[in-house]
Amino acid sequence: MSTKTKKGRFGRFGGMFAPETLMPALWEAEEAYERFRGDAHWQTEYQRLLETYNGRPTSLYEAVNLGMRLTGGRARIFLKREDLNHTGAHKITNALGQALLARFMGKERLIAETGAGQHGVATATAAALLGMSCDIFMGTVDMERQKPNVFRMNLLGANVVPVDSGGKTLKDAVNEALRDWTKTVKNTHYAFGSVLGPHPFPFIVRDFQSIIGKECRAQIKKAAGRLPDEVVACVGGGSNAIGIFSAFIKDKNVKLTGVEAGGKGLRGNKHAVRLTPSPYAKPGVLHGSYSYVLQDKSGQIADTHSVSAGLDYSGIGPEHAHLFESGRAAYTYATDTEAVAAFKMLCEAEGIIPALESSHAVAYVIKQAPKLADGSIIVVNLSGRGDKDIDSVAKFLGESI
Ligand SMILES: *Cc1c(COP(=O)(O)O)cnc(C)c1O
Repeated sequence: MSTKTKKGRFGRFGGMFAPETLMPALWEAEEAYERFRGDAHWQTEYQRLLETYNGRPTSLYEAVNLGMRLTGGRARIFLKREDLNHTGAHKITNALGQALLARFMGKERLIAETGAGQHGVATATAAALLGMSCDIFMGTVDMERQKPNVFRMNLLGANVVPVDSGGKTLKDAVNEALRDWTKTVKNTHYAFGSVLGPHPFPFIVRDFQSIIGKECRAQIKKAAGRLPDEVVACVGGGSNAIGIFSAFIKDKNVKLTGVEAGGKGLRGNKHAVRLTPSPYAKPGVLHGSYSYVLQDKSGQIADTHSVSAGLDYSGIGPEHAHLFESGRAAYTYATDTEAVAAFKMLCEAEGIIPALESSHAVAYVIKQAPKLADGSIIVVNLSGRGDKDIDSVAKFLGESI
């Protein structure tokens, strides 16, 4: 069933574990992406959309109040404001790139998976902009939980395809989307939402999101006169983290820290922590690539839990597995309770309502603050804004809106 190649590896991770019927689609995407990358006309068009539609470059903002509150001004905390992107998170930057790539390949239809609906909305937005038809695969459990996003996608002209198989959530939506793609590849491009899936997607999505790191590197040099001591990002599939890390990987003095969703803690399986050792986190294949995957004793994909929908996935991008094993990046986690406390602190201290996903990265900084050296500089990738999360936060705090 699965075909193993050495292509698209990050150390021992990644690869192209896909059924024979899917291989032609993956080879075509790989080949076309190489040409797209080197095509001046299409790259100029991408840059134009990023500037005039997406809202790039996003700002780098020094959170002085937060720095005072947490360290008395000993350390400087900067926020890379991905929350200011059109549609409210970094995801649109990848969706626009993939939609242009699809157009470059002469395809008229975009498909994508979505869990909470964020990537579905971003893809539907890009499809509307470029006049493409769009089908978003979404588990029926998620559709019920995320009704406003289903409505948003419909408003944007996309069709939401209900997925009723398995647990009826994100994992099943990816399976269905891949199945559709094997039959429709002639006119359809599959826009993966994170640095996941078979080669070439972890590379394509990383490239599109690497603009976060490029902007940030130039901005921090200008603002602080040097590179930061540490760069922090939350990790679901891992695209906002890889996007900002990528510009600093060669700078060995810049510590890179990924923060996963600790949910209700590491005792039990109510979390989505793949890179801190636990009985559930093991290397394995999920959705076409070899990486760390949460699984039970018999190798079944384990269910996950997080207060933030965007970090709630059993697998993790293969490049993160490699950065973890090679020691270049460190990975830790924040619990639901810590993330919600960080959410509240950022609201109060800075007047910024962060996404619950991004709040995990802020929670790490709160925990780390007493240990930060005098004069140190830390950058947090604020991957998205939290307007979408106010119901979840109210529910978590036992309040009603
Ligand atoms: C989807 C999402 C994430 C998680 O995805 P990554 O690929 O890990 O970046 C993080 N933050 C926000 C705001 C999201 O919408």
